[in-house]
Amino acid sequence: MNTKLSLIICTTLLALVSCKHEPKLTLAADSKHKHQWSYSGETSPEHWIEIEKNSDCDGKQQSPINIININADSIPAKGKLDILYTPTTLISKVENNGHSIQFDFESGDSITYKNETFYLKQIHFHEPSEHKINGVIYPIEMHLVHVSKSGSITVLGILGEEGEESQLFEFFESFLPLENGAVKDIHQKIDLSSLFLEEKHYYSYGGSLTTPPCTEGVNWIVFKEPIILSVEEVLKLRNNMPINNYRNEQPLNDRVVKLNY
Ligand SMILES: [Zn+2]
Repeated sequence: MNTKLSLIICTTLLALVSCKHEPKLTLAADSKHKHQWSYSGETSPEHWIEIEKNSDCDGKQQSPINIININADSIPAKGKLDILYTPTTLISKVENNGHSIQFDFESGDSITYKNETFYLKQIHFHEPSEHKINGVIYPIEMHLVHVSKSGSITVLGILGEEGEESQLFEFFESFLPLENGAVKDIHQKIDLSSLFLEEKHYYSYGGSLTTPPCTEGVNWIVFKEPIILSVEEVLKLRNNMPINNYRNEQPLNDRVVKLNY
């Protein structure tokens, strides 16, 4: 009798334990689901809204866009954007997140834009570029993602054209190859000043993240002049990222792009 009773208790306990585990399994499936988007096949950008149903991916103010210079509204840039990077920006780590190569930064460096301070969080790359200027696609686009204390986002987009070798890209790529999912601690200083050319004309407009959940309300600043890097440097980055890791051009709708000069 006693044995039977303990068997029943054991079975009940087991059932309870497995019940308790169920929500955890669902969560795991959910978080796995979140990472399903990609740049090709059935989970490519055209399908992001099906994968991320509550996202902004089908919104009206999406990025990237094709910037047509002649349609941009020219305004003086004075006092709107200040890049306050020190020569000792600290990279904390680099990660191949399966969508791009991403360098994360320790807090310290910032920009001010429209009287708000935004802190540099991470830099990642798209090959080829996501933004186009006058219909032209560039070999590389860098995104420097900045977040303010209130959570607003400003992204600096820097296009790259092929030419001479870039010492900055040599440094970035000294941490490659990096396979999908791999993370490397860096904790080294980097001088990003070579990214910002003397002639800092830039386009600005209101858009979104270019990856799910495609969150809108992002301030976009795309520099008019590309930076120069070598073909080999482009290829090395390309070999460490999914092929064509760019989102296609989104409609401008009723937005106006400004050219800040
Ligand atoms: Zn990006």
